[in-house]
Amino acid sequence: MNQLKPQVNPPLWLLAELTYRCPLQCPYCSNPLDFAQQEKELTTEQWIEVFKQARQMGAVQLGFSGGEPLVRKDLPELIRAARDLGFYTNLITSGIGLTEKKIDAFAEAGLDHIQISFQASDETLNAALAGSQKAFQTKLAMAKAVKAHGYPMVLNFVLHRHNIDRIDRIIELCIELEADDVELATCQFYGWAQLNREGLLPTREQIARAEDVVHQYRQKMSASGNLANLLFVTPDYYEERPKGCMGGWGAIFLSVTPEGTALPCHSARQLPVQFPSVLENTLQEIWFESFGFNKYRGFDWMPEPCRSCSEKEKDFGGCRCQAFMLTGNADNTDPVCSKSPHHGKILQAREQANCTNIQINQLQFRNRANSQLIFKTGV
Ligand code: SF4
Ligand code: SF4
Repeated sequence: MNQLKPQVNPPLWLLAELTYRCPLQCPYCSNPLDFAQQEKELTTEQWIEVFKQARQMGAVQLGFSGGEPLVRKDLPELIRAARDLGFYTNLITSGIGLTEKKIDAFAEAGLDHIQISFQASDETLNAALAGSQKAFQTKLAMAKAVKAHGYPMVLNFVLHRHNIDRIDRIIELCIELEADDVELATCQFYGWAQLNREGLLPTREQIARAEDVVHQYRQKMSASGNLANLLFVTPDYYEERPKGCMGGWGAIFLSVTPEGTALPCHSARQLPVQFPSVLENTLQEIWFESFGFNKYRGFDWMPEPCRSCSEKEKDFGGCRCQAFMLTGNADNTDPVCSKSPHHGKILQAREQANCTNIQINQLQFRNRANSQLIFKTGV
């Protein structure tokens, strides 16, 4: 048995989840189901201290996300501090709450990059998914304003069974808005997306059709000199091997929740693992010494079939959160893997996707009332 400690390099990427507050209610939100119980947020000074420590350790990229990070009034101050420390900064936003004035303030503070997420390519579907009538027009206006300010712009669409068949119109909209990069990412099933999985998972046929459309657009766009990058991410529910989650547990990525819990991936707080707080430990201690960050590093923790598998250095046994959500034990092989004894759960979900008829209005929307109800009833 290999008892050598795995080599641990410092984190490269810090994700600052500034808040769980958000005006929208996407039923696929990756925030925790009990977000309404977590009302505390780090102060401006506490966040800046986190940025300083991460930068001292060598992190180079800093993402501001949430919830909706725009609800933090100190966002320009946080951006400026991050930029002064030498981070490449990225704002991940729904665009709701963005104004021309704020874009000016962010540009002045040194923000490098803005990613705006859309729910759909048309107003009606966007409103049904976001739970807001005004959201679509605001997003359009802000996407144009972001572009006009000279930012490289990423547009992000989360795809699922209710919008994936309109992928051609989604791409057309991205072309019209002159996006530099387009992320067409099928729902990953964490948080609210996992709760609504049966009503969100596309069928294999839907994914194949969408892939085909993306392929045609790539050819068409490149022939017309449009260099925008179309990234299409398929759900791992239709794969036979899991993804190498976060490049490995505690390998390059560090996420900090609104109230200061440090996590090796943004959905790990659901695991029955004690994760440290940035209010009680330095990032150096958290990253190199904490129980939570070391728990799934290396290969010694792995059960079979991963332990003796020749592919373990490629995928690290898959996603711990997915293993926990689908098997009740985070140590297990990710059920996406066809070698997993729990792979049947994935096959069952695929079957379900072929038969289900869940409509958008039957999904559980991510809002405070639902979050409180889930917490109370423990659903
Ligand atoms: S996914 Fe939707 S609800 Fe969740 S934080 Fe983003 S915009 Fe808000
Ligand atoms: S058995 Fe484990 S290591 Fe091997 S391919 Fe499957 S998930 Fe990856």
